[in-house]
Amino acid sequence: MSGKTALYDSSVFLEMEGLDDPILSGPEPNPFWNKKRFEMAWSLPVMSKILDNEYITLQPMRTATRDELSLFHDISYIETMELFGNTGTAFSARFGLDTDENPVFQDMHIFAAYPVGTAVDAILGVAEGKFNNAMSFFGGLHHAMESRAAGFCYYNDCAIAIKKYKEKYPGKKVLYLDTDVHHGDGTQSAFYDDPEVLTISMHELSMGFFPGTGRPEEMGIGEGKGYSVNIPLPPLTDDFEFWRAFEDIVVPLWLAYKPDMVFWDVGADAHLSDPLADLMLTYDTYHRLSKTVHQLVHLGERKLVVTGGGGYNPVAAAKVWTIVLSNIAGIALPPTIPPEWIKLCHSHGLKMPRGGWTDRPTRIDEEHYSKIRRAIDEAIEKVQKLIFPVHGLEK
Ligand SMILES: [Zn+2]
Repeated sequence: MSGKTALYDSSVFLEMEGLDDPILSGPEPNPFWNKKRFEMAWSLPVMSKILDNEYITLQPMRTATRDELSLFHDISYIETMELFGNTGTAFSARFGLDTDENPVFQDMHIFAAYPVGTAVDAILGVAEGKFNNAMSFFGGLHHAMESRAAGFCYYNDCAIAIKKYKEKYPGKKVLYLDTDVHHGDGTQSAFYDDPEVLTISMHELSMGFFPGTGRPEEMGIGEGKGYSVNIPLPPLTDDFEFWRAFEDIVVPLWLAYKPDMVFWDVGADAHLSDPLADLMLTYDTYHRLSKTVHQLVHLGERKLVVTGGGGYNPVAAAKVWTIVLSNIAGIALPPTIPPEWIKLCHSHGLKMPRGGWTDRPTRIDEEHYSKIRRAIDEAIEKVQKLIFPVHGLEK
């Protein structure tokens, strides 16, 4: 088996015109469908010379076929996406389209279909042993539902890739790990009654925070009961508390479940600088998380697919995904951030408070901290009580 990590080349995606659509780059640019953000993210591993490493194999992104999309999505939704990308339509509202988060823009169907075809190739490539791991920065569109766009997501690459894998490899078990700061509601819904896909989502849960779901009680139905796991985190959760929840819940469940394939929607929006969320993770957690995920994968079947997910501070998203890539591929990062990338940040009007791969943690006052600790304790206890017995684990 090849020891390489596949990285999906985003150049084609970036060279397309639609991301410059006035709808996306107007007075309030779309936080996700944003050319600057994609460009910053893709340039960092390129300028860090990670792509030149022998352990990386660059693979082309591709759009998904209609057959692939319909593994999860309703055909009338797909048709609406295909037909009305250029015009917008009265049909749009029925499918959650033409909103601030999910605007109708030129070729949106093609943009949305790129991460899906890519994720399908990634999971099958890993399954077939073409490469050890695969990562696509532009994917992890976990809010897309069967016939509804939501939270910047049109098509759910995670759900479709896993469904494709299950179709080709019946009976194999998949762990879907979602550490994006938002609840992985669309992917959870795709496998809510399926014990062969264990979904675990760690996310912020607070008043008014999108999408508002992801309580521990949402634990699956029928045979899938106990196979949807939700770990809600309060605002201001920091590295230490996040890690406690990961070690107390995710690690034992992972070891008990023994997945054949791991699909990780990493997300960079739990980082402390993210403008759309309130958690306080530093780059250190992403270092530790990606090293730990890599180790856990290596204890088992050694099959891992990673998608970038959300992340709305372009500097942080680029750094988080590059850190994760380097750790799963086993490549050292350059000691400092490449100066040409810092220049690129400045040319886009973005600040770079520190030039390295770490940041300064901010300390929360003791009163707040004890509240956070209590909320995490409660979440851990509840999840262990509800979920652990299904997996033969002691609380
Ligand atoms: Zn998110």
